[in-house]
Amino acid sequence: MNDLFALTDQYSSNNYSPLKLALAKGRGAKVWDVEDNSYIDCVSGFSVVNQGHCHPKIIKAFQEQSEKITMVSRALYSDNLGKWEEKICSLANKEKVLPMNTGTEAIETAIKIARKWGSDIKGVNDGEGEIIAMKGNFHGRTLGALSLSSQESYKQGFGPLLNNVHYTDFGDLSHLKDLINKNTTAIILEPIQGEGGVNIPPDNFIKEVRKLCDEHNVLFIADEIQVGLGRTGKMFATEWEGVEPDIYLLGKSLGGGLYPISAVLANHDVMDVLTPGTHGSTFGGNPLACAVSMAALDVLIEEKLIENSAKLGQKLLNQLQLIDSNIISDVRGRGLFIGIELTEAAQPYCLEMIEKGVLCKETQGNIIRIAPPLVINEQEIDKVISVITEVLEKSGK
Ligand SMILES: *Cc1c(COP(=O)(O)O)cnc(C)c1O
Repeated sequence: MNDLFALTDQYSSNNYSPLKLALAKGRGAKVWDVEDNSYIDCVSGFSVVNQGHCHPKIIKAFQEQSEKITMVSRALYSDNLGKWEEKICSLANKEKVLPMNTGTEAIETAIKIARKWGSDIKGVNDGEGEIIAMKGNFHGRTLGALSLSSQESYKQGFGPLLNNVHYTDFGDLSHLKDLINKNTTAIILEPIQGEGGVNIPPDNFIKEVRKLCDEHNVLFIADEIQVGLGRTGKMFATEWEGVEPDIYLLGKSLGGGLYPISAVLANHDVMDVLTPGTHGSTFGGNPLACAVSMAALDVLIEEKLIENSAKLGQKLLNQLQLIDSNIISDVRGRGLFIGIELTEAAQPYCLEMIEKGVLCKETQGNIIRIAPPLVINEQEIDKVISVITEVLEKSGK
């Protein structure tokens, strides 16, 4: 096994520092390492595998489509792009969709739409449009997405980035109001911040953002790439406040853990600022992606995974909040998206949990993010609860 790590490290670029654990198999909420030890997966490839590892229905869709046709350029029509579009548009209650491949590309697309909408519709001078982002966000690693980041260590040495981006603390409504001016084209936020540490905004914040956007003619862009599609116990995390954004961004589990696909969803009035030749992606909306994504969405609905996320997530949250430990400073979450904030570095505790068969990972140094596949069952949840309790409680008083 050491050979495997050495080989990978020898050739891998140095932008990751993975744990010394190599996975070789996954089914449902479980994964196995190369020595056949099993774990309950509480990372889900960062919420990519909401439908569970290697879901048979999604694999079947992949196999069947891959024997028909896998690639059709957007210079032509395919026989399934429209079907996928109809399905995702009706789920999101939007009129139009633009398929891309990765989350960060969906972000880039939204930035382009916001700028173009600003100059074509709102009447902002070309080049003067502004975007407001939340501190502690994560929107991706390409230069546009990076320009929205408030984390200096992500940006250091990569400039120049996009200008005209302003930041407010996540939840600071009065500062947000102060930042809005005639050149503001969009406010972009994750309804619950993922990488930032499972940060839930104060009550009504999302609703107030919606109101501000309406009052000031500003687009509300919801980055639901990580928290959308059932992760938080609702189809979209903005539903927690009964709010519909102007633009939804989806990715990650939209491809069922099998194939990358992302989407930008909006109504005509916004999406129509893009005209032929103004945007595109070679792989975006290819038949294989559409077939896989349709199966992934069907599984989410047919297997009631959103309901399962809400129900088992609530149980998990309740039980984790009962842990008596003087190193836990907060346990928060919605659905199967939970953050356990510690008063010290979380990695040693994650390693202990892994040894006991629960795969989890820290974010921001001291927060353990628990996000198992939404197919997880009650028995597996019980094991997650008992392992986390055992590991954290013994460090308590
Ligand atoms: C993962 C993530 C992205 C970026 O997605 P990639 O597919 O890695 O490019 C953007 N926004 C959020 C909220 C994410 O969690």
